[in-house]
Amino acid sequence: MIRVKKSADIPQSLLTTTNYNGEDVQRQLLEDQHDKCYICECEVEPNFHIEHLDSRNPNRRDWNNLFLSCGYCNERKSSRFDNILNPATENIEEIIEQRYEGDTARFSSDKASINVEETILLLERLFNGNAKYPKLRNPHEELFFDRVKMILNDFLKKIDAFQKNESKETQKNVQEELSISKALLGFKYWIIKDNPQLYAVFKDDIKWNKQ
Ligand SMILES: [Zn+2]
Repeated sequence: MIRVKKSADIPQSLLTTTNYNGEDVQRQLLEDQHDKCYICECEVEPNFHIEHLDSRNPNRRDWNNLFLSCGYCNERKSSRFDNILNPATENIEEIIEQRYEGDTARFSSDKASINVEETILLLERLFNGNAKYPKLRNPHEELFFDRVKMILNDFLKKIDAFQKNESKETQKNVQEELSISKALLGFKYWIIKDNPQLYAVFKDDIKWNKQ
C-alpha cells in the first residue's frame, strides 16, 4: 500500500447528481490510481469497486472518501476497517513496513495509532488470511497470494540480475518494475529500502506521489 494522489478536480457528476459512481468518477479514479486497487495495489479491471474509505461518512459523494478497490479487498474491508490510514494524505509506504517473506507478508510500524494498527490488521487479513501466524488462507486467498508471490519473485529475480551484473539494461529492468503503474510497490519499496546499495541506486524511483 502506498500514497495515492487524487485529482484536485472533483468529477462533475458528484456535484450535479446523487450518484457516487458516475462514469467520470470511475474514469478519474482509474487514472489517479493507475488502474490499481488502492489497498492491495494489484490491477483492478475489469472488476473494480468504488469504495468509501470510511463507510460511516454520511456524504456518499465526498470525493475525498472515494477510492477504487478490487473485489477481493472490497469484500474484506467492507465496514470492518473504517479507521485505516488515508492513502491520499499519508505516505503509507513509509509508515507501514511491508515485507515479503516468501510464504508470508509481514507488516509493522514504529508509529502507534489506531489508524496504523487497523491498516496493519487489514493488510494481514488480505495477504495472510484469517489467522495471524501461522497463516491460514482459504483457497481464494491462497490464489490471491500466489499472484503476489509471482509478481514479487519476478521483481526479486530482476534485482538479482542487477546485483550480479550492474548494467544499464539490468538497472532499467528494475526501474520499470518500480514505475507507478506497476503492482505491489509497498513491498518493492521495502525491498529497496532494506538494502543500502539498492537504495543508493533506486532511491529516486521510489518517491511516488510525494508532494
Ligand atoms: Zn485489492
